[in-house]
Amino acid sequence: MALPQNLIPMPRSKFLRVKCIDCGNEQIVFSNPAIQVRCLVCGATLVEPTGGKGTVKAKVLEVLE
Ligand SMILES: [Zn+2]
Repeated sequence: MALPQNLIPMPRSKFLRVKCIDCGNEQIVFSNPAIQVRCLVCGATLVEPTGGKGTVKAKVLEVLE
């Protein structure tokens, strides 16, 4: 029986290697952070927390398991 996924936090979290769209800085970020993740160089939002899975607003270069 399938459980409604939107009610349950994803058990597996990932790290992503992303590139800031604004300044091109590459950074490792958590895929579902509790707080907003900002670019260390220019301060642009890279990942927005949205309950379960974060919304990535940067270019994802690689998914790190
Ligand atoms: Zn940036």
